[in-house]
Amino acid sequence: MTDRKHELAVNLAKVEERITAACAAAGRPREDVTLIVVTKTYPADDVRILSGLGVRHVAENRDQDAAPKAAACADLSLSWHFVGQLQTNKVRSVVGYADVVQSVDRARLVTALSREAVRAGREVGCLVQVALDAAEGARGERGGVSPAGIEELAELVAGSDGLRLDGLMTVAPLTGEYAGRPQAAFERLADVATRVRRTHPAATMVSAGMSADLEQAVAAGATHVRVGTAVLGVRPRLG
Ligand SMILES: *Cc1c(COP(=O)(O)O)cnc(C)c1O
Repeated sequence: MTDRKHELAVNLAKVEERITAACAAAGRPREDVTLIVVTKTYPADDVRILSGLGVRHVAENRDQDAAPKAAACADLSLSWHFVGQLQTNKVRSVVGYADVVQSVDRARLVTALSREAVRAGREVGCLVQVALDAAEGARGERGGVSPAGIEELAELVAGSDGLRLDGLMTVAPLTGEYAGRPQAAFERLADVATRVRRTHPAATMVSAGMSADLEQAVAAGATHVRVGTAVLGVRPRLG
């Protein structure tokens, strides 16, 4: 085993242990929670190693990095999640490899995703990204729609050709009433997700929690955690 493979295996085992413990503490079966490894800023070689170690879901946040990486890993059996702020001029590229776009936060983006998904003959899963610290009618600093805008966007996704409404995503807010209270934020997300499922029963994904707060996310009912640093190490550059 190479040094890097060994390092990633050890880190993955630690994260797996944390998820298992958090599920046990919450009285949830381990299979309730899917690990998505956020590979942004790390090379395709790492993605290949992770795949060999059993990882099935990876996430990226910049199309410029993600597109070549996904192409280099096209032979692997992986689901690719896009989790970054997405400009409409990147949508055609992203639809080429992303199975799920977790950062859907405005109508214009939905329209563009639908058009490109239809053109590519693909079905793209969509999560509405919620910014719990955004003012009504505004978007969050790191993307996301304010809670008041969720239902309308969910309806739009659900009614768009080529798109599938899979659920909701959030990042723990750094400002506002939820700053420093990730579990309260994730509980709020879970509440909203329950409401969305009344009209869209198939929208079962609740994506919340990163390296620092995955336990709080699992406690609050997250179905997907997005973990970068705890698996791959501290990122060499901002991303
Ligand atoms: C980078 C990133 C993560 C992973 O963060 P870590 O702290 O490295 O685990 C999760 N979600 C999103 C949207 C990200 O951009």
